[in-house]
Amino acid sequence: MSGASSFAYVTLVTNQDYIKGATALVHSLRWTRTQADIVVLYTGALDRADLHRLAALGCRLIEVAHLPLSDEFNERHGRSKLHQKAPFTKGRKPSFHTPLDNFCKLRLWELTEYKRCIFIDADAIVLRNIDRLFDYPEFCAAPNVYESLEDFRRLNSGLFVAEPNIETFNAMLAALDQPDSFFPRTDQTFLQLFFPEWHGLPVYFNMLQYVWFKLPALWDWQSVRVLHFQYEKPWEPDHPKVEDLKPLIELWHVYYTGQDAPEIANMRNPQGAL
Ligand code: UDP
Ligand code: MN
Repeated sequence: MSGASSFAYVTLVTNQDYIKGATALVHSLRWTRTQADIVVLYTGALDRADLHRLAALGCRLIEVAHLPLSDEFNERHGRSKLHQKAPFTKGRKPSFHTPLDNFCKLRLWELTEYKRCIFIDADAIVLRNIDRLFDYPEFCAAPNVYESLEDFRRLNSGLFVAEPNIETFNAMLAALDQPDSFFPRTDQTFLQLFFPEWHGLPVYFNMLQYVWFKLPALWDWQSVRVLHFQYEKPWEPDHPKVEDLKPLIELWHVYYTGQDAPEIANMRNPQGAL
C-alpha cells in the first residue's frame, strides 16, 4: 500500500489523543473508497501499540521531527505564552493541544514522492469522496467560517491542498523564523501569509462544527464533505459544548468505532437550516 499512489491524504498526530482523531479520520477515508495513500505524520513520543493499530488500517506512518526553529521562536509559540498573548475567546482548546506541534504540518512539503497532498487535521472526518481535490492547484483551503461574514477573510488550515516541494519547504522555514515573528493561530496564520493568493474552496470542504449552532442556516448534510471538530474534541469525555453538538459527536463515534455503516443520508439539519 505504501507509496502506491502519486496522491496522498496526510494527517498529523503528536500525542495519544490525536491518535483517536486519526483513527476516525482514517476509517472515514476508507468509507469514501479512495485509492490515494493515507499518510500519518507522527512525532517521537507515541505508544508503539497505538501506531501499530493505525498501520493495521493500511496507513503509511512517517515519523517527523519538530521543525528546526530557534529557541526564541519556540518560546513565543509555547502554549501558555500563546494563550496569554492571543487568547481564545470563542471556544476552548483541550489541554492536550500543543500549539507548537501544529507547525509539523509543514513537513508535508517534504513528501516529494507525491504530486499532490490533501492535508486533513486529525480532528476531522471525511463524509464524501473528495479525491477531485487532487486535481486542484496549490494552495487551496476553505474559509474559517463559524460565526460571521468576517470569517470569510481567513482560511482554516484543517484542510488544504498542497504540492510537496523542498524549495517551498525551505522558503517556509526561512519565512517562519524571523526575529520577533509571531503567528497567533500558528500554521493557519502562517499559511495565510505565505499564500496570500490562496484559492478558496466551498465551506463544505471543511465544515466547522460550530456552524451547527452558530450559523445553522448554512448547514446542509447533503453538501458537507468534511466535518471538522475545531476547538473542543468529540472524544473529550465532557466539554462545554457537548449538548450543543450532540448529533455531530454521535456521528464521529460511529466513524471512530467503525462498526456500523455511517448514515449521512438520514441526518437531519439543525433547526433554522433552510
Ligand atoms: N496536532 C497534534 N497535537 C497537538 C496539536 C495539534 O497532533 O498537540 C495536530 C492534529 O492533527 C490536529 C491539528 O494538528 O488536528 C491541529 O490542531 P487542532 O485540530 O486541535 O486545532 P483546531 O482545529 O482546534 O484549531
Ligand atoms: Mn482541527
